[in-house]
Amino acid sequence: MNLHEFQAKEILSSYGVNIQRGIVTSSSKDVNLIAKKLQKNTNTKFFVVKAQIHAGGRGKGGGIKLVKNFKELDEVSTKILGMNLVTPQTSSLGKKVNQILICEDVYYPGKNPISEIYISILLDRKLGKNIILYSPEGGMDIEEVAEKKPHSIFKEIIDPSLGLLPFQARKISFNLNLTGNSYKEMVNFISKLYNAFINSDASLFEINPVLKTSDDKIIAVDAKVSIDDNALFRNSKISEMRDLREENNDEVEARMYGLNYIKLDGNVGCMVNGAGLAMATMDIIKLAGGNPANFLDVGGTADSNRIENAFKIILKDKNVKVLLINIFGGIVRCDVVAKGIVDAYNNLNNIQVPLVVRLQGTNAIEAKKIIDDSKLNVFSVVKFKEAADMVNKILN
Ligand code: GDP
Ligand code: MN
Repeated sequence: MNLHEFQAKEILSSYGVNIQRGIVTSSSKDVNLIAKKLQKNTNTKFFVVKAQIHAGGRGKGGGIKLVKNFKELDEVSTKILGMNLVTPQTSSLGKKVNQILICEDVYYPGKNPISEIYISILLDRKLGKNIILYSPEGGMDIEEVAEKKPHSIFKEIIDPSLGLLPFQARKISFNLNLTGNSYKEMVNFISKLYNAFINSDASLFEINPVLKTSDDKIIAVDAKVSIDDNALFRNSKISEMRDLREENNDEVEARMYGLNYIKLDGNVGCMVNGAGLAMATMDIIKLAGGNPANFLDVGGTADSNRIENAFKIILKDKNVKVLLINIFGGIVRCDVVAKGIVDAYNNLNNIQVPLVVRLQGTNAIEAKKIIDDSKLNVFSVVKFKEAADMVNKILN
């Protein structure tokens, strides 16, 4: 689950990480009051209006603006709230801005030039360890830095059973070319950030930029945080932060039915039990020259109710030209699934796309008979490869 910047900063702040302070609102009527409050708490001279959407690159798309007085604040807030913000990370349709974060300006001019740093913490699945990626070249796209100046991106590997060791925090601070007070501040910042990452069950923290101010403070200016969905059950405060407006409607609906559904842009609908089989099914569709329209794992209990819900979700996608059902009956019996498919098909009564069904495992023979006897627009196949070939034959 992804979080908004203001939510991510709330978490960071609760672990003592220094952040650029701000107040969120969904109404442009509140902005003057908010700005006055901020001014009182932070002494900021100017303000930054930041669009809250689940996508980065907001600055480039015009969703982050520095304003120097209350009149500008009012104009800019009114303009950004409700706009469709297109950034390099959204589709060309953009994302609607429902909320803005009014922030203190932390880039105030000082004696020394300020510097922007990049820090992220994430899980390296290959290593089975967490890593901290960091670079003194923050502010801009890290992808661009990786391409043009790969030597300026550093990686620190952290053994999860040991946690971040003090020498590692010092090494990071050193590699970021910090000295004196800012060096100490960074050691402190990194330790708290790592602690926040672990304790919030995050899978990604990306802080870009981390700012070193002219008076040697280290501040998280932006925060992109993803939380591991599987851990949400034990963190109700974070799970309440879910903003369904930012998510695909069908994916939200599927979750309500207990289905694991991810929409893709192909034309072959897939209904599968088990994530591994779902991946293999998508692979074989691709191999046979097709393109999966979705990933859908109906889970262990593929009864007719679940299958009906899965049908509804998949068939909402008008790109779907054929639907492949690939179920392995290990715990679930194939004849039960077959009956579920036939029942759901009849219940829905409006299925136009042809179905290719492969049921393997316990009672597969009985299952095939149920499907074949149903006289529905269903092709039943036995082998995996046959299934993919049949899908292609229907498409072409
Ligand atoms: P992103 O574009 O979605 O990554 O949003 P960020 O929060 O990273 O902001 C984008 C850019 O806005 C930053 O890299 C800064 O250059 C600028 N910015 C953010 N906060 C401030 C601020 O307090 N003062 C000034 N002057 N610029 C800011
Ligand atoms: Mn950023």
